Formats: sequence, C-alpha cells, structure tokens
Amino acid sequence: MKNRFPILLLAVLCSCSGHPKHDSASECASAQDSCAVAPVVETPVSKEYDASGFVLLTDVVPDAILEIRYYSTYNFIGTRIDGYEQPVALMTREGAEALKAVSASLKSQGYLLKVFDAYRPQKAVDHFVRWAKDQADTLTKQYFYPEIPKSEIFPRGFVSAHSGHSRGSTIDLTLFDMRTEREVDMGGTFDFFGDRSHFAHPVDPEQRRLRNLLRQEMSKGGFRPIEGEWWHFTLRNEPYPDTYFAFPNSVESLPNE
Ligand SMILES: [Zn+2]
Repeated sequence: MKNRFPILLLAVLCSCSGHPKHDSASECASAQDSCAVAPVVETPVSKEYDASGFVLLTDVVPDAILEIRYYSTYNFIGTRIDGYEQPVALMTREGAEALKAVSASLKSQGYLLKVFDAYRPQKAVDHFVRWAKDQADTLTKQYFYPEIPKSEIFPRGFVSAHSGHSRGSTIDLTLFDMRTEREVDMGGTFDFFGDRSHFAHPVDPEQRRLRNLLRQEMSKGGFRPIEGEWWHFTLRNEPYPDTYFAFPNSVESLPNE
C-alpha cells in the first residue's frame, strides 16, 4: 500500500515510568501497568476515504489527454485547488470502463477525449464555496464570469456545497481532433459561468455537430448529460450514489494493484 488509509496505530502507553512528575510508588502498583504496548489496531477506514473502488483513468483509457485545470492556476479561482495533489484523473472503475468504450468509438471517428476533471475531493468543493462567498476575490472575472456578478455565483448554483464529481463517476471533458491536433471549438469554454455553456445555446453548425457528437457518444456509453454544462456527464448507474469522497486527488490515494 502507498501511504494508505487506514493508518496502523501503534499506541505506546506509558502510564508512569519516565515521567518525572509521577510518584512511582503510589501510581505504579505493578510491573504490568508501568509501560504497556497496546495491540496493533487497524482503524476502520471511513467510506469517504476508501479509494478501493477507484482507478487511475489513464490506466484504463491510456490515450485520454489530461488537462486537470484544478491542479493548475488556469481555472475560475486562479489558484491550485485544495485536494489536487497531482495532475491526475481518478475515477470509479465502472466510470473508467464506460469511458473506455466511449473513447474507442470516438477514436474511430478521429477524436480523442480531453479531460478537464474527474474525481473531485470534497475539500476542493469546500474551496469553491469559500471562494464564491468572498466577494472581494474577482481575479478571473473577465475570463470565467464576465456577465455575472460574483454575488450571484453561489445563489444561482454555479458553485454548490456538494458536487457529483466527489462521487467519482462524473467527468468534465471535450473532444480532441486527431487531425488538427487541437481541442475542438465547442462554441464555449470549460467552466464558463454563462449562457453559452448551456448545451442548447445557439452556436455555429460545426460547433453544434461537435456538442451533439460528444453528448451522443457519452449517452451511448451510459453517461447522463446536464443541460447547463456541455462538458459535464455522470455515469447513469454510478456505484457510489450517496458518497462524497474526501481522499486527495493523487495516485497515492489508490490501493496498490
Ligand atoms: Zn463537471
């Protein structure tokens, strides 16, 4: 295991010996209670920290292109987000396997998947909420929310206290054109807080074709879209529908194979 939870706790209980303040005659009645080593106990891992059902997405879909925005400063906050310790994409095994089929189908049409985010630790969502309530921080406004007052971001649901991403079967992605070797133009950019992010927002015919293609392929692969963000999809039969995981976004969180 690599730095896994649970941690083995070795509790050394020194009841008196070595403590200068103790009166050894009165507090240590026998040799047994003078200094005891407790049994090694494996603390049960809480389900929020149990990454045993997760995989590294690129172990299952090796040609997925990653641009993990919350590890970088190119995101709507403008700093690395709490909980993103490595620029990797973690996902439930079920989600990754479903995405593998989507990737194969799109590859035959000339596209690779480009992933912006997959599993998102709860700590990161908490960071989003803190930021949304800090009216003074408008560092990225001109790029990510030029049309919306900062004060409306939380009330209008652009940021929420929980995210489906923390359940491990939700992904943000777009298409990468193997011919041009570029991300396609969807007529709107990832994480833009505004109307053009709506799937049905009017866009050019080629942008419409590409939005439709991504949605059709993801739907065929078992993912459910949302209307407000063309890039966001959740596995329909997600394995952990009620758990908001909290382990860091890092390979170190995963169990060894
Ligand atoms: Zn998303």
